[in-house]
Amino acid sequence: MSNVDFNKETGPREVFCGLTSIVWLHRRMPDAFFLVVGSRTCAHLIQSAAGVMIFAEPRFGTAILEEKDLAGLADAHEELDRVVNDLISRRPEIKTLFLVGSCPSEVIKLDLATVAEKLNTRFLGQVRFVNYSGSGIETTFTQGEDGALKALLPLMESTDDEKLLLVGTIANNVEDRFKKIFNNIGITNVESFPPRQSTELPKIGKNTKVLLTQPYLSDTARDLKHRGCEIIQAPFPLGVEGSTKWVLAAADAFKIPELKVHEVIAPLANRARQALEKHTEILRGKKLFLLPESQLEISLARFLHNECEMELVEVGTPYLNKDLMEQELNLLPDDTKIVEGQHVEKQLDRVRASNPDLVVCGMGLANPLEAEGISTKWSIEMVFSPIHGIDQAADLAELFSRPLKRNQILTSKSLATF
Ligand code: SF4
Repeated sequence: MSNVDFNKETGPREVFCGLTSIVWLHRRMPDAFFLVVGSRTCAHLIQSAAGVMIFAEPRFGTAILEEKDLAGLADAHEELDRVVNDLISRRPEIKTLFLVGSCPSEVIKLDLATVAEKLNTRFLGQVRFVNYSGSGIETTFTQGEDGALKALLPLMESTDDEKLLLVGTIANNVEDRFKKIFNNIGITNVESFPPRQSTELPKIGKNTKVLLTQPYLSDTARDLKHRGCEIIQAPFPLGVEGSTKWVLAAADAFKIPELKVHEVIAPLANRARQALEKHTEILRGKKLFLLPESQLEISLARFLHNECEMELVEVGTPYLNKDLMEQELNLLPDDTKIVEGQHVEKQLDRVRASNPDLVVCGMGLANPLEAEGISTKWSIEMVFSPIHGIDQAADLAELFSRPLKRNQILTSKSLATF
């Protein structure tokens, strides 16, 4: 492992909760419904994050736990039953219903696993119920997807067929491009988890080779391993370098020669490097500070340093799974400062003291930092944007060069006015 400087920090945190992941999960599986069992705060969060669907019926909702439920004076199960019955009778297109736990449901110890079990018996053959937690207690927002995928695993049948399984939500067009690349190098049986329809879960077993598309799926990866799958060790497919090594790792697992991979991806890589140049001109030598939120920070730092020549001041990450991140850590420059966990006040002090050109952070921290004249990029944008793959490298770089460019323009305008 490269000689990075590991640190841990605990204290007040400033991150979104796992409910946020419903935004990209419900787009991925249009036949699923996500029912948050939570408070009005949870309902506000999910509605403002996902936007209100005006022309279509929403595929997420909240069974509201009122204050009297929280005090244990009323049966929250009744409200849940009422909402579920209403949903199932009105929405026959729902095939999988996720009961998503929240801070309030965890505080009152509402046992959603038992609720899901009972509902599965009642609605057998009609709708499947699974439960997971999206609570913000001690978790960050991308863990919502990890929880949802882990909850689906027991529903996946076994097979001995050899296949490549891409695990983690990515944009459909990115998925299509990945499948085409794998087909071209000779890996033809490629499936994705989560699938595009919740009822089309892939079968898994000892000949399933898993390639993670996202670094925040520790629990899912562990359970896949327990089911006999092989987890391919690779960096994540961000940028030309990460994506190339990611495809090479899969090829190696299928005993496909490296040369074949380079033949297929060389034209893509050349085009992507050229497209990157104009962003690297802006990003080169600029100081980058990543605050912990999405768990994508280490991969982003590797891309922005190795391919866009940014200087890394500090790389925060909410959690660090050294096994899954080993290949990424090996690609970071020596002495990169990694901080796992968060004490938001201390981190903000270090941000101010180091005077970075760009800070990657949560939305809640971005406005105050911008007000202090520090350029920011919301980390949540990375999970809503199609940033994976060789051909997306320039688009990924642009997410970071744009705020710097905007700042340059604003500064030169205000100088001109002065
Ligand atoms: S789950 Fe917790 S952190 Fe998330 S919106 Fe609800 S109360 Fe807030």
